[in-house]
Amino acid sequence: MKWILLFGALIVPSICGREKFSGDQVFRINVRNGDEISKLNELMKSDHLKLNFWKSPSTLGLPVDVLVSSASLQPVTVFLQSQGLDYSVTIEDLQALLDEEHEEMQHNEEQERSNGNFNYGAYHSLEAIYREMDSIAGDFPHLASRVKIGRSFENRPMYVLKFSTGKGSQRPAIWLNAGIHSREWISQATAMWTARKIVSDYGKDPAVTSILEKMDIFLLPVANPDGYVYTHTQNRLWRKTRSHHPGSSCIGVDPNRNWNASFAGGGASDNPCSEVYHGPHANSEVEVRSVVDFIQEHGNFKCFVDLHSYSQLLMYPYAYTDKKAPDADELDKVAKRAAKALASLSGTRYHVGSICSTVYKASGSSTDWAYENGIKYSFTFELRDTGHYGFLLPANQIIPTAKETWLGLKTIMQYARDHLY
Ligand SMILES: [Zn+2]
Repeated sequence: MKWILLFGALIVPSICGREKFSGDQVFRINVRNGDEISKLNELMKSDHLKLNFWKSPSTLGLPVDVLVSSASLQPVTVFLQSQGLDYSVTIEDLQALLDEEHEEMQHNEEQERSNGNFNYGAYHSLEAIYREMDSIAGDFPHLASRVKIGRSFENRPMYVLKFSTGKGSQRPAIWLNAGIHSREWISQATAMWTARKIVSDYGKDPAVTSILEKMDIFLLPVANPDGYVYTHTQNRLWRKTRSHHPGSSCIGVDPNRNWNASFAGGGASDNPCSEVYHGPHANSEVEVRSVVDFIQEHGNFKCFVDLHSYSQLLMYPYAYTDKKAPDADELDKVAKRAAKALASLSGTRYHVGSICSTVYKASGSSTDWAYENGIKYSFTFELRDTGHYGFLLPANQIIPTAKETWLGLKTIMQYARDHLY
């Protein structure tokens, strides 16, 4: 036994079990018309190619990004060429990028261990994020507290930071959500920077101070903790939860198709192996249900923002239908104002529109659920970039992304503060 343990320790490196993407590439396909979308849909349905769509065909006609495994490179290339589709390779060697990211994280962890500071310009494990949430609450006990809202499928706690200057639980409130799709690491990192920014700027920035004088802010940096841990230990590109389904060997549900808003409608799949599987029923995912229960019990949320990546979009309901939301004009005005503020820092351009008219139809989304449950100021951000790195945005872009996003978020929160209903 001893020998086996020793032997195991010797031959099993720390990255044991992590899925490798050697020789895999990311293709960018420029879609020019409906005919080309149909051809791509055909490609999307070919299960044997095991394609992973990073960016699906969109209403706006944005380019499509797809991860192609080394084994599928040849058939996919042949298909694209024979169909006359215009494509290029955006990531030549996915594994090289992943190795770089992993090495940088390890180096940062060593540094943090020696100096004891959380580096906001680095990506972190769930454990490190939870520790830092604790230390924010510890540093600002009269402003911030760490609240447990539930536990994940794999029994990890789900923590929210509550920022509040007032008494009572019924003050109008803002919900900031991040990391519902685990591989979108820039969203969890941006949320953490935002948490620190809120406590640092309270009492200094009149906008933050006045928002917190009227409203509470709740921030959930890791809405899908099991998925997030899985992206660190097994597969960096995991998107869904980690729940099990009787009768299928495929794991997980797309937690942004699992909300009770036109559940199981268009833009979601009933196939448990799909990346957009909606789950057996609305709120089947305990991670979604925990947020829903908390928000409903609180009863006075006025603003809900969900942070995703990537594509540089700022969107509002609806996602499940191309019908205009009753407040669409107002939400469009607020979103445009927020995108303008965001761009003022370093010129990063965002597209603004309803989710359905910008990307694609998606039923069961968080933003639609919030809106239909009386939270008028409901928005989704797709953060940097537009596809050069996609989900693998280098850590040196965390702070620039968080800083510009903050200007957009602040615009939205100020608007909500001044237009309570
Ligand atoms: Zn997402």
